[in-house]
Amino acid sequence: MLETADAIIAAEARHTAGVYPKRPLVIVGGQGARVWDIEGRAYIDCVGGQGAANLGHAHPAVVAAVTEQAARLITCPEIFYNDRRAALLSALTAAAPPGLTRAFLCNSGAEAVEAAIKFARVSTGRTNVVAAMRGFHGRTFGALSATWEPQYRRPFEPLVPGFRHVPFNDAAALAQAIGPDTAAVLLEIVQGEGGVRPADPAFLHSAQALCRERGALLIVDEVQTGFGRTGRLFACEHFGIEPDLMAVAKSMAGGLPMGACLIGERVGELPKLSHGSTFGGNPLACAAALATLEVICNEGLVERAAVHGAYLLERLRGLDSPFIRDVRGLGLLVGIELKTRVTPVLQGLQARGVLALPAGATVLRLLPPLVITRDDLDLVVAAIRDTLDELVSHATEE
Ligand SMILES: *Cc1c(COP(=O)(O)O)cnc(C)c1O
Repeated sequence: MLETADAIIAAEARHTAGVYPKRPLVIVGGQGARVWDIEGRAYIDCVGGQGAANLGHAHPAVVAAVTEQAARLITCPEIFYNDRRAALLSALTAAAPPGLTRAFLCNSGAEAVEAAIKFARVSTGRTNVVAAMRGFHGRTFGALSATWEPQYRRPFEPLVPGFRHVPFNDAAALAQAIGPDTAAVLLEIVQGEGGVRPADPAFLHSAQALCRERGALLIVDEVQTGFGRTGRLFACEHFGIEPDLMAVAKSMAGGLPMGACLIGERVGELPKLSHGSTFGGNPLACAAALATLEVICNEGLVERAAVHGAYLLERLRGLDSPFIRDVRGLGLLVGIELKTRVTPVLQGLQARGVLALPAGATVLRLLPPLVITRDDLDLVVAAIRDTLDELVSHATEE
């Protein structure tokens, strides 16, 4: 019987592919910025579905949209038209940065990046892609080829040819790397998995200018930064960047699997059958995404991320711990670079009722739902302070 934590953990462990390092915690419910485990213990959720839960858990508007649409029509391939899809495409392109007037709908971040790479190749007739060191774009072969982390790449080489990586925020290196075969430059606005590292505005602007000058396309990966996370609906808005292709996913559909590749004017008409997806644009995900966009706008979640994010950064910068090297972020995408490994800190936080993420070996990453309250943020800061203090007393005992 799968009724106890031990039984559930044993069943998963026996039958899962085993590719995830897992925490021995069985999460069975959520509401807003809280989740609870099978024993009924509540946690403040700064994992936030790894960025998929910007609206928090069990948001009533998403629950209603999904329930209603599930009873009407779940699946409808893109060989037909659909009312929910038409409404979503209109709303999404209206909300997107200027010029992104079309979108390909898919089911995940990696798929959105794959679509962007394919569209860049087919539209420029060129093959190469320049990406950034520490960049993360997903784990399918095209997206993995753009991802930098050798641990993810090496077991699967040879990858797709034509990809190279330049240091993030190094405009001179980027200028050197873009040649006549460069189809696209692919960048995050804030590197998420790579350690919560915001781009320099000047770097982004020279990337955009270089692409336009040299006939390459600028692909921005907003899979993690999109839908209000950074305090703007899309992070490119902070810098006035107008990408030619933009990949989104994670929080797009209130936590349901969905992604999209938005397409700008410099990308020509795409050949019929050049790409596709069975589940892409399904009415259920479209209904959830429409409800999500409405909630983000009607409940002021973008402003909330900006205000709460600034508050959280300020509180964290006020912490006095010898283990903190740097605190950085944009909106509610926040990283604390430690002078120690992050895993014991994550465990200490969990024991204090706070779930958080790593971003590499030494960065603690916070991705709370944008609906989180200031009181909960205060509890998170207190838990981080206490966890780091405990590490100090352990270190002095040794
Ligand atoms: C999570 C992420 C991806 C991959 O998304 P999946 O849905 O896991 O395939 C790609 N790019 C960025 C920036 C991400 O944060």
